[in-house]
Amino acid sequence: METRLQKYTVAEIVAGFVFNEFEGKGLYGLSGKLTIQPEYQRHYIYGDGKKDVAVIDSLLKGYPLGLIYFNDTSDDRFEVLDGQQRITSIGRFTTGKFAIRDEHGTEQSFFSLPDDKQKIIMDSELLIYHCRGEESQIKEWFKTINIAGVPLNDQELRNAIFSGKFVTRAKAEFSNSSNANTQKWSAYIKGSAKRQEFLEAALSWVAASKGQTIDGYMAKHRHDDNITELKNYFDSVIGWASGVFSDVKREMQGLDWGRLYEEYHKTPYSPTEISAAVQRLREDPYVKDGKGIFEYILGEEVDCKLLNVRVFDEATKRTTYAKQTAEAKEKGISNCLLCAIGHDANKSKIWDQKDMDADHVTAWSKGGSSDIANCQMLCKTHNRAKGNR
Ligand SMILES: [Zn+2]
Repeated sequence: METRLQKYTVAEIVAGFVFNEFEGKGLYGLSGKLTIQPEYQRHYIYGDGKKDVAVIDSLLKGYPLGLIYFNDTSDDRFEVLDGQQRITSIGRFTTGKFAIRDEHGTEQSFFSLPDDKQKIIMDSELLIYHCRGEESQIKEWFKTINIAGVPLNDQELRNAIFSGKFVTRAKAEFSNSSNANTQKWSAYIKGSAKRQEFLEAALSWVAASKGQTIDGYMAKHRHDDNITELKNYFDSVIGWASGVFSDVKREMQGLDWGRLYEEYHKTPYSPTEISAAVQRLREDPYVKDGKGIFEYILGEEVDCKLLNVRVFDEATKRTTYAKQTAEAKEKGISNCLLCAIGHDANKSKIWDQKDMDADHVTAWSKGGSSDIANCQMLCKTHNRAKGNR
């Protein structure tokens, strides 16, 4: 891979700058020679009134903006490999798309700034690292450079590595904030379209259903010109989840719905009963993990571990141990209630507290509470054998 360093002024870079409001993309610079956002780049996420303003402040104060990387694609044409956010911020400012506050707190667009300040910005020099090489080399390198600003997340990196028709189409569906479905999806998936988190969930679900990784799936489908399978599978998962759990609850967000779909979509459920169960468990003060409620219900309320049910506190265990041990010693039997009624050598064994666990006399799932009246100590073997039901 060949590399060279070159300085450009801001005026050169923003010549012919075009910003696409609809897609949130900076498109061109350097009088059309520079493609600012190639398809493997993420969306513009500096437009938050802080990072974009900070870029302009840095220019006015003469602070360096850090290295920017261009990929030389053909004679005299380049695309931004890293620095798209910074260049887009500068381009948007110099075309009057947002304002900054001056030292008096007054809002100033580029055009209302005094001439000398406009000149400072336009004359600022940007240091550009040009590179030329095979697509694979460039992408590998892009993956390893430590990117300034907001670090790329895993899916943004994958989109860069596997760029092509498939990624372009997948992004148009899953990474498009103006897709009205994103509202519905966000009940189940945590994150945003811009940062590729819906796309990542969709890919992870379909890939897992085929025993593949996201990378493997993307590599295999890289040159597909449709996303039918991806979209159908995603729609099946979301459709199933919203059908089974008719009330949207905040704890649903971020669950592995793809795995739940695979495990449970063939089981029939009554949405009315499910809805009542969700309500009951959400109100149960012993349930510590509200996120586990949904799988617990799908699994017919067997696996209490999913709920991280509140356990007995230390004082309760100590008191119960002391009482049980004193009674056992008096009777000459084991202080484990189950060992005591057994027939082996342990039937008169006095266990140390560290070798025993607290157990619900009446199981929590049958309404038993985690207070002292419902606590008994069992040796670890018997407690495990009794299970978590
Ligand atoms: Zn025992």
